[in-house]
Amino acid sequence: MVSLEANENVIEEAINNNVDLIITHHPFIFKKINKINTSDLKGKLIHKLIKNDVALYSMHTNFDIASDGLNDYFMERIGLENSKILDITNTEVLYKLAVYVPNSHVEAVKSALGASGAGHIGNYSHCTFNSEGIGNFKPLDGSNPFIGNEGIIESVNEVKIETIVPQRILGGVISKMIGSHPYEEVAYDLYKLENKGSSVGLGRISRLNESTTLENLSNLIKEKLNMNHIRVVGNLDTLINKVAVVTGSGADMVKKAGRQGAEVLITGDVKYHDAQDALDMGMCIIDCGHFESEDIFKDVMKRFLDNIEEINVIKSDIYLNPFKII
Ligand SMILES: [Zn+2]
Repeated sequence: MVSLEANENVIEEAINNNVDLIITHHPFIFKKINKINTSDLKGKLIHKLIKNDVALYSMHTNFDIASDGLNDYFMERIGLENSKILDITNTEVLYKLAVYVPNSHVEAVKSALGASGAGHIGNYSHCTFNSEGIGNFKPLDGSNPFIGNEGIIESVNEVKIETIVPQRILGGVISKMIGSHPYEEVAYDLYKLENKGSSVGLGRISRLNESTTLENLSNLIKEKLNMNHIRVVGNLDTLINKVAVVTGSGADMVKKAGRQGAEVLITGDVKYHDAQDALDMGMCIIDCGHFESEDIFKDVMKRFLDNIEEINVIKSDIYLNPFKII
């Protein structure tokens, strides 16, 4: 079951639906706890989850910054294309891996590298460059060479396989490569590259295909998020060409959005002084609400999990917004 967060009602709902795993956006444990005490609410709920064999996994900022995560989905939902990251928090470090392989094992090593995720460039996988050459080595005392004999210099026809590997999978790629290679000592080189890998970060920014007014954009957000009311800062006639979005609480990103050419920031939790500051710097804000900007988590997470045939995914029906408008 997917839900924006897990409270007592959501956990009851999960138990009644025989759910094995609840996935939430907001953390169930936000501030650290030192003990699980069934006399307080949080402890009681943890106890209930354990007793009923319900696992709980919270994604939060990992999913905010991820490619195809919550902010990308928000952009998709309101129909904005080609968005860029507003605030890059991490860029992947890339390595070049070159390994020397006897002819008999070239295909085995190449497929091990490809299967472990090396050689991804854009929409291409299994990218390698192969060049033929001669490998020379002398097995020393105590060695157990795959080719050649102790004490004799050997020359072998080998292929140098070069590929690109992101840092996060480097350890796994090297161990798979060594596992598929016949030599006792695998000769390979690793170079850190200046090429930049993919980035993740907070918020998104996108140029509209056609400019619109702040009023029209606000109405569009209302419609796309099924809202009756929305709070707007700025002159409703302002022409909007570039839109920045930060789901949840993102009013502190208004300056950054402005510097990158956005006329408006769409976010939640906007305070009075945030709004005044935005007006002073000539920026508009659409405050679509913390809840409304993130409750769409259920839709995007269900869509993602529905790709896995073996599991059934349901969305929680519990309405979690603590605020009411009367
Ligand atoms: Zn939030």
